[in-house]
Amino acid sequence: MRNPFGMASFHLLHAGMKRDIARLDALNASSPEEFKAHQLQSLRAVVRHAYDHVECYRNLYREAGVGPDDLRTLEDFSRFPAITKKSLDSYALERRIGVDASEKDRLLRSTSGSTGVPFEFLLDDETVYSDMVAHNRVQLLSGWRPGETTAYLKWKFPKPRSPLMASIRRMLGLDVFEIRAFEVNNNSVGGIIDTLRRRKVRLLQGYASSIHSLARHCEREKGLGVRSVITIAESVTESQRKFIERTFGAKVFMDYSASECMRVAFECPARRGFHVDVGRYWVEIVEPDSEGVGEIVLTRLFNRAHPFIRYRIGDRAGLSWEPCPCGLSTPRLVNLSGRVMDYIMTPSGRALSNSLFIVIFEYHHQHVLRFQVRQVSDTELHALVEVSQPPTPAEIRSMEEEIERESLDTVRVKVEVVDRIPLSKTGKRPFVVPLKSEAGASQE
Ligand SMILES: [Zn+2]
Repeated sequence: MRNPFGMASFHLLHAGMKRDIARLDALNASSPEEFKAHQLQSLRAVVRHAYDHVECYRNLYREAGVGPDDLRTLEDFSRFPAITKKSLDSYALERRIGVDASEKDRLLRSTSGSTGVPFEFLLDDETVYSDMVAHNRVQLLSGWRPGETTAYLKWKFPKPRSPLMASIRRMLGLDVFEIRAFEVNNNSVGGIIDTLRRRKVRLLQGYASSIHSLARHCEREKGLGVRSVITIAESVTESQRKFIERTFGAKVFMDYSASECMRVAFECPARRGFHVDVGRYWVEIVEPDSEGVGEIVLTRLFNRAHPFIRYRIGDRAGLSWEPCPCGLSTPRLVNLSGRVMDYIMTPSGRALSNSLFIVIFEYHHQHVLRFQVRQVSDTELHALVEVSQPPTPAEIRSMEEEIERESLDTVRVKVEVVDRIPLSKTGKRPFVVPLKSEAGASQE
């Protein structure tokens, strides 16, 4: 049942939001000629802004001999230099931000960096709001209805603004139920399932690995009432998707986002890839192979505080312009690879996922360049690490202890420094290698 207060508040308080969601929907439903015109106009504005106000882009464009006046058609845009997180990171933050960005436009965020040090960037008010509009739009596309309770599974949550604000939001039904991903284990899962029922959660969102591991705990539960699931950050394989859908009796949609570029593309209802949000991004594929799969290059159509222009995000996909059975004419990211989720289930019932190991190795131990955690038995893990400088025995022990603690002390860990982590038979270097593929938890 919907929360009538939530519905009312959505309609009353979110009139502006509803209008902007409708606008974004209309743009995404328009013809390629129409949305390309919008994209070209936005690209010209963002390039002009970056050239005039952002030192790092001005330097890059001058070196490449291009300027805002050279961008007349969408084809011209490929002549502008592409950037990576690493090349951006070589500039101090103040040289990457718009000099005209006001103080209130400087919401500092960070994500994992190329050197282990978190990569910092800024979001301006307009961008934060546009991310919210896009977020509400994908929730609606997934089948969620205003007033229905949603639950998030995440590693960390922003602090609520104030206790008063939190209780007002709860009263208005704008509250979401937050499940800390690390709290999903044998001891706590009963309480989480009770809350899912009591709060009538209809939409579940979060890391695919966290949702999949929760599904493993819920396998015998009937009638949980969840209707749709949105997975973020990691992609699921078909067997993982079927397992989640069967367990919750819900439809799973994947969202393609990164911390610095949220809600880039959302899975098509016809399941033919991810439709790019053409109202907010321009997406290119560079250096495609014979299958058309190459590196994804993103441009955010705004964020004046810290533009991302021709940003090589590090994932690979193809881009299909073929007509889609769902009726949208927007291009779709297909054969998206690079973030297949995986995790190791420990005897405590707590899942250790890719994203957790990234936090441990890349954030907490900055000399680790690359890692792979292999499960050798139910209670033993073997972690291989490539490092930029040899860690001391105490540092190695601290990595081992951190992982052991995360398993609630149900596994023993051995960290070994290697020159090179070998490739798997399929030519990949997965972050985690579980012992066995249970319920589709492992990569296919
Ligand atoms: Zn479609």
